[in-house]
Amino acid sequence: MASVLSLPYFHDEAAAFAFLEGIVWPKGPTCPKCGAVDRINKLAPQRSKPSKKHPEGKPVLGLWKCYHCRGQFRVTVGTVFEASHIPLPMWLQAAHLLCSSKKGISSNQLARILGVQLNTGWFMSMRLREAMRDGKLPPLGGEGKTVEIDEAYIGGSERNKHANKRLPKEGKGPYTGKAPVFALVEREGRVRSFHVPEVTGENLRQVVEAHLDGKTLVYSDANRTTHYAAKSFRRDKVDHTAGEYVRGDVHTNTVEGYFSILKRGVTGTYHHVSQQHLHRYLAEFDFRHNERVALGVDDAARSVKALAGIVGKRLTYRDSSEAGA
Ligand SMILES: [Zn+2]
Repeated sequence: MASVLSLPYFHDEAAAFAFLEGIVWPKGPTCPKCGAVDRINKLAPQRSKPSKKHPEGKPVLGLWKCYHCRGQFRVTVGTVFEASHIPLPMWLQAAHLLCSSKKGISSNQLARILGVQLNTGWFMSMRLREAMRDGKLPPLGGEGKTVEIDEAYIGGSERNKHANKRLPKEGKGPYTGKAPVFALVEREGRVRSFHVPEVTGENLRQVVEAHLDGKTLVYSDANRTTHYAAKSFRRDKVDHTAGEYVRGDVHTNTVEGYFSILKRGVTGTYHHVSQQHLHRYLAEFDFRHNERVALGVDDAARSVKALAGIVGKRLTYRDSSEAGA
């Protein structure tokens, strides 16, 4: 059996464009300038203007011409791959690696595998995470569905830091310096997680009401804040402090399992995730959970879904770098 990375679109630029076009334009090419879907022709490979580095010019593949507006375009226009000097096959390799590693892959490791500079690896992984971010979505749950909700604190522990690097205590006990994350997990279904500014009943309630179908049955632990968040839903709770973890069908094992993968990923693979970028990492972990093998999605299909998300999510170098790594 050949390695999956030996597939042509991971190495050959023309094959890579054909592969991506099939994902982004399942019904055929669309002009990004005027929106036309007919009178569009594929152009023969051309050469760019000669430069010092490429005196013969570089081959330019994947060009299409629209005969309505006379514009030329490629499938990458308006996507997270636009205006990048990284060859498309390398983007596809990166997407595959990121999508097939359950606990994620650090941008440094990605850079080493692809043989690119560290900042290029970081930039690529940030853009691909953006592609995995869900857009507008229908609510989770519904009649006969159960959603577990819980919060967790993600990030380095202050206890492990040198005394003069520790953040001051702000009356939040062991959680200072960690980022609160609130997750809703539908059993046998999808997850949605959120970096919330602060864990308050009102903050969590707004998330629950914006993202759950009103007929959903909601389970939480006995934490008053979390239980309050589902106050307008049918709900039940298990009291961990009283030693109760499972009562019949009532438990929060699914959401706790999600958090354990997230925490292992963040501490084991990424070591440190800045709060500005936490929402992108959450999108990545949510994506892999939602497109998982148990739901019939294999590694290759998962990459295709991530690539389908590149449309309309152009992230400029400035957008991704101004917050710092
Ligand atoms: Zn056009």
